[in-house]
Amino acid sequence: MAFISTEIISQIREQTDIISLIGEYVRLIPSGRTYKALCPFHTEKTPSFHVIPDKQIYHCFGCGKGGDVFTFVMESEHLTYPEAIRYLADKCGIEIPKYTDPDEQKKDNLYDYLNKAAEFYVHCLKEPQGEKARDYIKKRHLSEETVKKFRIGYSPDSWDALTKYLGKTKEDLAILERCGLIKLNKTGDGYYDVFRNRLMIPILDIHGRVCSFGGRVMTANEEPKYLNGAETETFNKRKMLFNMREAIPVIRRQNAAIVVEGYMDVISLWQNGIKNAVASLGTAISAEQIQLLARNCDTIYFSYDADEAGQKATLRAISVQKGAPINARIIAYDDPKDDPDSFVSREGGESFKKLLEKAKDIYTFLIETRTRSLKFPLEIPVKEKIIQEFRELIPTIHSLIARSEIIRKISKLLDMEVNVLERELTTKEETQSERHKSSNSLNVTIKDGDIQRQEWVLKHLLEHPEDFDSTSTMLTSAVFSDNDLRKIFEAMSFQQEAANFTLKPAEILSSLDEPELVSRLSMLITTLEDRPDEPFSECVKGLVKTNIDAEIKRLQESISEAEKKDDYLTVAKLSQAMLEQKRKIDMLY
Ligand SMILES: [Zn+2]
Repeated sequence: MAFISTEIISQIREQTDIISLIGEYVRLIPSGRTYKALCPFHTEKTPSFHVIPDKQIYHCFGCGKGGDVFTFVMESEHLTYPEAIRYLADKCGIEIPKYTDPDEQKKDNLYDYLNKAAEFYVHCLKEPQGEKARDYIKKRHLSEETVKKFRIGYSPDSWDALTKYLGKTKEDLAILERCGLIKLNKTGDGYYDVFRNRLMIPILDIHGRVCSFGGRVMTANEEPKYLNGAETETFNKRKMLFNMREAIPVIRRQNAAIVVEGYMDVISLWQNGIKNAVASLGTAISAEQIQLLARNCDTIYFSYDADEAGQKATLRAISVQKGAPINARIIAYDDPKDDPDSFVSREGGESFKKLLEKAKDIYTFLIETRTRSLKFPLEIPVKEKIIQEFRELIPTIHSLIARSEIIRKISKLLDMEVNVLERELTTKEETQSERHKSSNSLNVTIKDGDIQRQEWVLKHLLEHPEDFDSTSTMLTSAVFSDNDLRKIFEAMSFQQEAANFTLKPAEILSSLDEPELVSRLSMLITTLEDRPDEPFSECVKGLVKTNIDAEIKRLQESISEAEKKDDYLTVAKLSQAMLEQKRKIDMLY
C-alpha cells in the first residue's frame, strides 16, 4: 500500500465516476444535485443512501456507512484498501506497477501454486487413475459442463503425487506447505499430500482465485465425508462461503440466498438451475458469513440436514443472525433422509423452488423443533425453561407482527394467558430498549448546541481549507468537545497543512482509518449545505468562547475551594488566570 503514490490514488479517484460505479450495485434516483438509493449495506424500504457526485462521496443516513469510491469498493467487493485501489485502477485503465507490496507478492505466489494444484487435480481426473472418480461423478449425475464449471478434479491415491509434481525445490515445498496442500511427515525428512484419493473441489475466493480445496470421499462410510483445507493465509473459513463469487449476482437479483451444508449440494443445485446457493466451509455458519449474505439480500434460506447435527447447526445460525435484519427461513424435506443434493437430483429444480415457497420462518421452525419431544401436560419447571429459552429469542424478532404471532403460538403451547406470557418474555428487553432511547435523546440535546457548531466549523473547513490559516491562532483541537469531531479536525489540519491546504473532502476521508470517523465525516460531507447563516468566524468565536467559559467555570470552582481553606496565595494565582481567560474573550470581539 505504502508503495502506491498518493498522486496515483488521487488520479484514480478523479477518473472514477462514482455515479456509474455505485450505479452498478443499486438503482440511483436523481434528487437535486445528489442521488438517492436504497442502501446496499443495510435493508430498508425508503432510500436513505445518498451519493454526492461533485464531492465524490456517499453516505447512508440509515446505517451510517459512508466514504469515497475506494471504501465503497472495499465494502461491496470485500477488498482491502490496496486491492480496492488496484480494482478501480483497472477499471479506469490506470497502470500501477505490479508488485509493490512484498507481503502481497508472497501471497500471489500461494495463489499461483493453488491454481497449479487445481490444474493438476483436473488433469488426474482424466487419467486412467481417475476412473473411480469419473464413475462417482457419473453416479452423481454431474454433467461435463458442471465438472468443468466447478473445476472438479481428483487427487490420486498416493502419498506424494502432488508433492512430487509441484514440489521440485525446497522453496516449492515451503509454499505448498503454506498452501495447506502438503505436510511434513513424522520423521521430518519429507512431505506427504494432504488430499489423497478424493474428489477435489476448489474453493474460490471473492476474486475467483483458488484459495483452498474441499476433498470429498467417494465411498460410503469413509470419514470424514469432506476433508477441508486448513486455515491458511489465503483461506479464512469464517469469512468466506463456497460459491459466493458466482452466486452473488444471482443472490442480489433474486434478493435471496440459500445456505446449504455441502459443496455437492451447491453443485447439484447449480446444475438444476438454482444458482443462489452457497455453503459454509466445514464449520457452522458464522456471524461474518451471515452478514456477508445480509448485505446482499433480504431472505436467507437454510437447508441443513434434518439430522440432529444439522438441526443444531441451524439453531446456531439463528443465534448468530441476531441483529442482522434478515428474513431467515428453513427448508424442510418430507423425507428426513433428504438433503438438497439428493432431493434436487431426484425431483428437479422446479420442485426445489416449491420447497422454498413452503419454507417456514425460522421462529416457527424453532418452536416446532423445540417442542416436538415435549410430554404434555407440561410441568412448571419445563415451562419455565422454555420461557427462558424464548426470552433470548424474542428480542431478535424485528417485526412486531411476527413477534405477537410467535408469542400467541407459545402461549397456546404452554397453556398460558397471552398477556402474562408477553410480560414474561419482554420485560427484560423493554427496559433495555428504553435505556437505549433515553441515551439517544441525551445525545440529541447535547448535539443541539455545541456539537452542532463544531460540525458547522468542520463543514466550512472542508469546503474552504484556506481558512485553516486565518483561524489557526484561535481554533485548536481543544475546542472540539466531541471526541470523533476532534480526531477529524486533527486529521484534517495535519493533512491539509502537509498538502498546502489543497485537499478535497474525499481525500481527507480516505486518510482516516477508523470506520466511525469515516462514517462521521462522510455524513458531514453529505450535509455540507446544511449550515446556518451564522458566518464562519462567528461560529469559531462561539466555540472558542464556550471553551473559555468552561475553563473560567473550572477556575471559579477552584477559587471558592481555595477561599474556604483561606489559601489566599492560590486564590490570587487563580484570579490572575481567570482574568487572562476573560481577556481572551474580549479579544474575540
Ligand atoms: Zn445503510
